[in-house]
Amino acid sequence: MDFDQLRAEMVTELQQQGIRDTAVLQAMNTVPREHFVPEEYQEYAYYNGPIPLPAKQTISQPFVVALMLAALKLKPHFNLLEVGTGSGYAAAVASLLVRQVHTVERQARLVQYAKIRLNQVGYANISLHLGDGTLGWPTSAPYDAIVVAAGGPTVPASLRNQLAVNGRLIMPVGTHKKQKLHLIWRKVDGRFGHKVLTPVRFVPLIGSEGWGDGER
Ligand code: SAH
Repeated sequence: MDFDQLRAEMVTELQQQGIRDTAVLQAMNTVPREHFVPEEYQEYAYYNGPIPLPAKQTISQPFVVALMLAALKLKPHFNLLEVGTGSGYAAAVASLLVRQVHTVERQARLVQYAKIRLNQVGYANISLHLGDGTLGWPTSAPYDAIVVAAGGPTVPASLRNQLAVNGRLIMPVGTHKKQKLHLIWRKVDGRFGHKVLTPVRFVPLIGSEGWGDGER
């Protein structure tokens, strides 16, 4: 399979879908998504939809990854936090756009999965952490940008608190099955701006400031 060709076609499709941020498009044209997709789904590596991962999780749809990263208006000096590493794909894309990526995953099996793949592609500015990302990752805060790749009932207070002044956070908020992307930004006076964007479907954010384990 000609993955380079498929990757370029995916990027053209993202442009047609309205993604304008050239840095995001370029990063998505660089990261080999096939490295992050499980063996048995290789032929769908550049399909513009979610793909199953171990532990009943999914790699997010390329369009949604692009949309979320573009909404954060990333700059090269940014310190970024991702909650929900999954395969490591979105972290890899983000790592080409900012100085440092911290990514937190609650499932040890997926931390291992992502670690192998991120080592393979050799992006050095990504720190992978095992833990409950609804609590953020306090030791490396504040963050200029936070992206949450799983859907929760509300934006966790811990994540708001770890946002830098002028920092932006994007997260799916809603029920277990349906959410909308919420964009939050911290103003100079310490208050938060808030905008509700497009409907999405993410796997649940499970943790002390998210859904309970086994809750439906
Ligand atoms: N960004 C990923 C897709 C993530 S899917 C990619 O590009 O592949 C959502 C992930 O969030 C799952 O791996 C799930 O285990 C994880 N997750 C759910 N709740 C979490 C929490 N509280 N802290 C960290 N990770 C969490």
